[in-house]
Amino acid sequence: MRVLVTGGAGFIGSEYVRRRLTADSAARITVLDKLTYSGVEANLAAVADHRGYTFVPGDICDPDTVDRVMAGQDVVVHFAAESHVDRSIDGADPFVHTNVLGTQVLLDAAHRHGVGRFVHVSTDEVYGSIDEGSWTEGWPLAPNSPYAASKAAADLLALACHRTHGLDVVVTRCTNNYGPHQFPEKVVPLFITSLLDGRDVPLYGDGRNSRDWLHVSDHCRAIDLVLHGGRPGEVYHIGGGTELTNHKLTGLLLDAVGADWDRVQHVADRPGHDLRYSLDDSKIREELGYVPRVSFAEGLAATVAWYRANRDWWEPLRARAALR
Ligand code: NAD
Repeated sequence: MRVLVTGGAGFIGSEYVRRRLTADSAARITVLDKLTYSGVEANLAAVADHRGYTFVPGDICDPDTVDRVMAGQDVVVHFAAESHVDRSIDGADPFVHTNVLGTQVLLDAAHRHGVGRFVHVSTDEVYGSIDEGSWTEGWPLAPNSPYAASKAAADLLALACHRTHGLDVVVTRCTNNYGPHQFPEKVVPLFITSLLDGRDVPLYGDGRNSRDWLHVSDHCRAIDLVLHGGRPGEVYHIGGGTELTNHKLTGLLLDAVGADWDRVQHVADRPGHDLRYSLDDSKIREELGYVPRVSFAEGLAATVAWYRANRDWWEPLRARAALR
C-alpha cells in the first residue's frame, strides 16, 4: 500500500511515519510537507534510510505539486495544518489558506487520481466548548477560535467530497496530544522546556480550562485502526481518557520537572478560550477495538525524559519561534 502522509515532519505526522516505517520494512510512505516553522525534517531522521520512504518538500495548497505527488498513491493520511490556536488569534490567514484551501486541493487530487481512502485528521475543538457530558460524532460544530473554525470547514469539505464525489473519506477527531517531538510552543513542551531552562511558565486565566490528554502513540495507532477498518464517510472520535484542568496539568508538570508553584505566572486568559472539551469515543472503541494504552503518568514521565535528553532538538526551535 502506497501512503501519502501530509504534514509528516510535524509532531503527530512524524510519529505516524516513524511508527509505520519502523514496524514494516515493506511499507511505502511519501511525506509531503512545506516545512513551516513547526515542520522539522530531522523528526524523520530515524527512518530516512528506509527504502520505502520519500520526502517531498512542498505546499498542499499548490495544485501542481499535489497532483504530481498524488499520482500512484493508494491512501492519504492528512495531518498538514497550521495547528496553534494562539497564532490563529494573531492572524487567521495562513489557517484558512492551509487548513481549508489546502485540504480542498488534496481532496480534488485524491478524487481525480482514484485514491482508495482519505483519512482527514481533525480535532475536538471543532465542537466549541461543553460544560458537562461529552460530544458524540453527530454533535453540531460550533468552533470558537479561527484555528477550530478552519478545521471545521476542512472536515465539512472532506465529508462533502465523500457525499458528492464518492471519495472514501474518514474523519478522525481527537483530544489534546502530548509526547516527544511536539513543537515547544504547545503547553506541555512549553512548560517542560521553560522549567528545564529555569524560566517561569504562563498559566492562562484561573486555570479551570479542562482538556482530555492523549498520548501521540495512541493517537497514531487509532488512526491506523480507522485507516484499515473505519467506514467510509464516518467520523471517529479518539480520546485519551485523562481529563485535567490546566491547573492540575501545571501541578503535574511542575512535579515531573521538580519545580515549585513560584515558577507559575498567572496571565490574562486567551480570548474566546474554550472552557472544556470532552469526546465520547465509544464508537471507535466498539467498532474498531480502540483502547488507549499509555497512562498519563507513564506518558508524561517519558515525555519529560525525552525533552531532558534532547535539548539539541528543542533549543533551536524555541529560538526560531522566539519563545521566551
Ligand atoms: P504540527 O504543527 O506539529 O505539524 C504540522 C505539519 O504540517 C508541519 O510539519 C508543517 O510543516 C506542515 N504544514 C503546515 N502547512 C503546510 C502546507 N501548507 N503544506 C504542507 N505542509 C504543511 O501539528 P500537529 O500537532 O502534528 O498536528 C497535526 C494534525 O493533527 C493537524 O491537522 C492538527 O489540526 C491535528 N490535531 C492536533 C492535535 C494536537 O494536540 N497537536 C489535536 C487534535 C488534532
